[in-house]
Amino acid sequence: MDFEFTPEQLEFVKEVEEFLDGNDDPEVFDVTRENMAQIVDTPLRRAFMAKVGEHGWLGMTWPEEYGGTNGEGIYEYLLNEALAARGGPQIGKGVGIIGKTIISHGSDKLKQEFLPKILRNEVEFAVGYSEPNAGSDAASMQLKATRDGDGWRLNGQKTWTTSAHFADWYWVGARTDPEAPKHHGISLFLVPMDHPGITVKAIWTMGDERTNEVYLDDVWVSDDYVVGELNKGFQYISEALDLERFTLFTYSPTAQRLDLLTEYVANAERDGVPLKDDAVVRSQIARLHTEAEVARVLGLKFVFASSEGGSPPTSEASEYKLFTTEYSRRLANASMDIAGPGGQLRVRDEDAPMKGRSESTYRYTVIDTIGGGSSEIQKNIIARRKLGLPKNF
Ligand SMILES: Cc1cc2nc3c(=O)[nH]c(=O)nc-3n(C[C@H](O)[C@H](O)[C@H](O)COP(=O)(O)OP(=O)(O)OC[C@H]3O[C@@H](n4cnc5c(N)ncnc54)[C@H](O)[C@@H]3O)c2cc1C
Repeated sequence: MDFEFTPEQLEFVKEVEEFLDGNDDPEVFDVTRENMAQIVDTPLRRAFMAKVGEHGWLGMTWPEEYGGTNGEGIYEYLLNEALAARGGPQIGKGVGIIGKTIISHGSDKLKQEFLPKILRNEVEFAVGYSEPNAGSDAASMQLKATRDGDGWRLNGQKTWTTSAHFADWYWVGARTDPEAPKHHGISLFLVPMDHPGITVKAIWTMGDERTNEVYLDDVWVSDDYVVGELNKGFQYISEALDLERFTLFTYSPTAQRLDLLTEYVANAERDGVPLKDDAVVRSQIARLHTEAEVARVLGLKFVFASSEGGSPPTSEASEYKLFTTEYSRRLANASMDIAGPGGQLRVRDEDAPMKGRSESTYRYTVIDTIGGGSSEIQKNIIARRKLGLPKNF
């Protein structure tokens, strides 16, 4: 396998970087929001992503009949990594999760209504799988959908719905057949977020960003807004989660933080002794660089496996998510240790070592090891799907 980029791919990166330089606005890009930068919503950030769409860079991997260019996944990966490196919005949910699922399983009506809007960045989505008693085991979700006329009435509660406070549409799973085995009685719905009966309440994370609880009280949804076949929702959710585990956890911000730590070690002193002469620190840095290379290559492995067609590669998505998010946390912990007490200074403090990123990532990176499925769940998936070990639950 060749891990170097081709001249065409490098040319594309150059074009993207020039475009980003031309749109370099601090209101749009902010690396200090870490991985959560992708879910910050402002009119300027929406307008910037619309420009990305005008360039034909949203939906690059979509088939031409749906407005895409049938391009290779590597270009989408390169674009997303470049956006993430600057702390900008990313192509995540609309193109990568909802759009791709609608293309594979949605009705003509849903395709016509949503796909062009996604490509023009005119619509934001929130994803509602988790509930107070259904997180890792999402198939245990209990949000009730009862038949009512030509549609369904939804009642119940979701939790941890990121983006619900600004999204336009809710991509939400509900139980349509309570008698069926738990994986076979769930359907996926699209519901406008301003529908009467939807209440959104904030949950603030230790990473200073907002996620939400969402309550649905007698929310009626027409059959037209059921995604794909009834009671097949969990199958679609599983495929979408494979995409989420890859697209929402980018590598470039981690590489950037490793550079900050390396530069700090090269120049800082502790008790009059240069850090670069400390054998323990040298060993830590060498190890972190080696692991960074593993994370980078696992990302490429997912991209190459995806380009072979069919469903998204499950175990590659889990390997990437598990290793990269745990690595990112180890890097944050090491940065905090190496910086000493000053590492607790925050990003806006001029004296903060590593521009305060050791403190911010110490908090933010924990979240990435939970959202999109916790590390333990990724290990279970790898054990079962890749190694053929029996199910443990
Ligand atoms: C910031 C943030 C944003 C999120 N955004 C969204 C969103 O937009 N939409 C959405 O639907 N969800 C979202 N989530 C929810 C996320 O997917 C869940 O938090 C996650 O799946 C874990 O579920 P839980 O919190 O209920 O923990 P639990 O499932 O209760 O797990 C608790 C602990 O037990 C471990 N565990 C559970 N089952 C097993 C097992 N079988 N084997 C070994 N260990 C196990 C877990 O790893 C974890 O350590 C978000 C979460 C966070 C933190």
